[in-house]
Amino acid sequence: QLPVICIDGPTASGKGTVAAAVAERLGYHFLDSGALYRVTALAAVRAGIPISAENEAAIAQLARQLPVRFAGSRIWLGDEDVSEAIRTEEAGMNASRVSALPLVRKALIALQHSFARLPGLVADGRDMGTVIFPTAPLKVFMTASAACRADRRYKQLISKGISANIFDLRADLEARDARDQNRSAAPLKPAQDALPLDNSALTIDETVNQVLHWWQE
Ligand code: C5P
Repeated sequence: QLPVICIDGPTASGKGTVAAAVAERLGYHFLDSGALYRVTALAAVRAGIPISAENEAAIAQLARQLPVRFAGSRIWLGDEDVSEAIRTEEAGMNASRVSALPLVRKALIALQHSFARLPGLVADGRDMGTVIFPTAPLKVFMTASAACRADRRYKQLISKGISANIFDLRADLEARDARDQNRSAAPLKPAQDALPLDNSALTIDETVNQVLHWWQE
């Protein structure tokens, strides 16, 4: 069995940062599965296909042949560096909409599995432990309070010179959580054997160390 660590959890729980750091510390591959949904949504927009249930099959077809490439921290769609384009609020919203389409989720399974290579993989997402790598030896379900996540996102935006309202941010996060938890296709929920990790009162380093500690146990 390949060494795979799954880190799932809600929006802005810090799982992306922690998963990337754990992968770096262990010298493992890293799968940012949310990026695949973001790239798929962007590919649909670029192809002029409206993101809706009627176009599910067409978008799934795009997802199955997605010319996506991860190069260090950059992400390419064909010959275009889309690293910034997929991180806008709109791209996140579109990603959330394509990710609710079951055929699209199915189309991305083989690509996600292909990331599980030696020496190992850290996979970040919503359904890594429940659907994509159900037999992974370590599954972490990472959370932080809504207040805490809103506060972190607020500071992140302000540091980039983008003005933001913390109450609106929190409402957006909670709306996105509700949508991810209540959808019928792979709803966000912890795997039965996932270890819960609430990092509201922890630093990034402390959170990374907790995951590494569990892995080395
Ligand atoms: O993690 P990130 O914000 O980049 O994910 C974008 C969207 O893709 C999320 O809102 C979520 O709805 C969806 N997603 C998913 N399954 C995953 C990863 C992300 O449904 N494994």
